[in-house]
Amino acid sequence: MEELKPKIGLEIHTEVKTKSKMFCSCPNKEADTPNIYICPVCTAQPGALPVINKEAVIKTIKLGIALDGKINFKSYFVRKNYFYPDLPKNYQISQYELPLVEGGVVKFFLEDKEFFVKLRRIHLEEDAGKMIHFENFSLVDFNRAGAPLIEIVTEPTISSSLEAYEFAKELILILRYLDISLANPEKGQIRFEANISVGYGEKLGTRVEVKNLNSLRALKEAIDYEIERQKKLILSGSFVAQETRGWDENKRETFIQRSKEEAHDYRYFPEPDLVPFDLSNIKIEKEKVPFEIRKEIMENYGLNLKEVDILIWQRWALVFFEDVFKILEKNKENIKIVFNYLTTDIFGLVEKYKENKIKPEDFAKLVNLLKENKISSRIFKDALLKIFEGEILKNILKEKKIDDVDTIRSIIKEVLKENENAVLDFKNGKENAFEFLIGQCMRKTSGKIDPEITRKILKETLTNL
Ligand code: ZN
Ligand code: MN
Repeated sequence: MEELKPKIGLEIHTEVKTKSKMFCSCPNKEADTPNIYICPVCTAQPGALPVINKEAVIKTIKLGIALDGKINFKSYFVRKNYFYPDLPKNYQISQYELPLVEGGVVKFFLEDKEFFVKLRRIHLEEDAGKMIHFENFSLVDFNRAGAPLIEIVTEPTISSSLEAYEFAKELILILRYLDISLANPEKGQIRFEANISVGYGEKLGTRVEVKNLNSLRALKEAIDYEIERQKKLILSGSFVAQETRGWDENKRETFIQRSKEEAHDYRYFPEPDLVPFDLSNIKIEKEKVPFEIRKEIMENYGLNLKEVDILIWQRWALVFFEDVFKILEKNKENIKIVFNYLTTDIFGLVEKYKENKIKPEDFAKLVNLLKENKISSRIFKDALLKIFEGEILKNILKEKKIDDVDTIRSIIKEVLKENENAVLDFKNGKENAFEFLIGQCMRKTSGKIDPEITRKILKETLTNL
């Protein structure tokens, strides 16, 4: 008997970052006050006519190009008819037969290995509003109604919740890198649906659609739950019903919502208020996706995947890291120092101050001073903090008293090496040779070295020679 295997396809809806909504000039942004970004078009007043938002179309094409999909530059919108209180027109303007993008692939790393998920299509449509439910009534907020929404559909070739999870995570990263969406699941900017079936061998089982997965964790848990539920049904001789299920966030289980509608239930037909468009003459550059960027960083800097992942999820850090190495030499020692201070100290400071306040050139300067033993690690960290507090590096270094024992020791060591005659003189009882050496330490540090500690350490060092 062949083994029961799950097959999973994902449908992802993501909000598109644009100035205005998909078919009207209302601002496309969040608001605390309901129903302020609305107009006759997005509230479906009779006679109001939609106009296509070119920015949204271009962003969708840009995504398709980056993911190696086939672009349908000539396409059109359709009406998808369904009834829901937050959908004022009672249809959604969407795409059906001719999506903007067909095919495509998302490449990512799965447990350190290269992996990919093929896409079926990417199309553009409009979002619905939001319902706010109270005990005896509901209210509707149309601020989001008519906002541009990209729908991405994968092939049903995903075989585990982990694959689905890592794919979804990578997609979030891609959408952010291509500046298509903020793709924050917590804010509903990206929403997941999973089509899950379990069948023997390569045979497909009955497909169950799980909706309303609003976090990566929910996506993963719902898939695991559904695979187990379907396996149990099949193994007990029962059958899986084709239906749409929801995810209960508290019970952590799926529940039946309705039996699945078929495509014909939506009565798709071309949107008569919009003419087909043709963007064949526009040129859109293919942009790098995070998968390629990771590989480049690993190759250029000898970092491992885990280290690159730390940088790639903080894009400012990746940019900063590369900017620092426009100044510093890309050698092992520098890479190690920069990576470590960046991902510990600067990460901490950025979290506290909500922005990166250090310039790459200042950071590079500090790294060089550290390597030349002119400053200690403590002074390095101290200088970072002061820069975030608003001080200028030049002033910090000017004022900076060198009072760190290790740094003073290494400065003394250098001074002694450079002045062997004075050391001999001191050993031969010439007391003023000591003052000469102190003077050399002062000169070397432009007077920043702490005289008292220096005297003490120099005396110890000379006695022990
Ligand atoms: Zn509007
Ligand atoms: Mn959709």
